[in-house]
Amino acid sequence: MDYSKEIRHRARCLHCGDKIKYGRADKKFCSDDCRASHHNEALKESRAFRRRVLARLVHNHDVLMHLMETGVESCPLIELSSQGFSPDLMTSCRKVGKHMECSCFEIKYIMTASRIYSISKIQNVSLNLQNCNK
Ligand SMILES: [Zn+2]
Repeated sequence: MDYSKEIRHRARCLHCGDKIKYGRADKKFCSDDCRASHHNEALKESRAFRRRVLARLVHNHDVLMHLMETGVESCPLIELSSQGFSPDLMTSCRKVGKHMECSCFEIKYIMTASRIYSISKIQNVSLNLQNCNK
């Protein structure tokens, strides 16, 4: 990574914005506290983002599970969106023939530009999970 521009213009702490009065030319923080706080905030944001994504995935899973329990095997994306389903989120996606086979945890489905169909449980999920632990 090229820090040359950042170093040239760096004169202020990345966390508090105070002037960095001493230290190496590439020093980014005015103190250890600022460095730690900066990294803790970045970690906190990353965790909050992951929690939000996981909550949306869990909601997608609930919607798909409800469709399966009520015998629905195909559903327009517009109807799913009205139920809060996020078609852009999935746990895996692969091209099978001309179609995109997606999954949300142990539920798989085919997704087109306008609908999902062939909603079903993935067989041998426990086997897949064992492979993940290796
Ligand atoms: Zn600072």
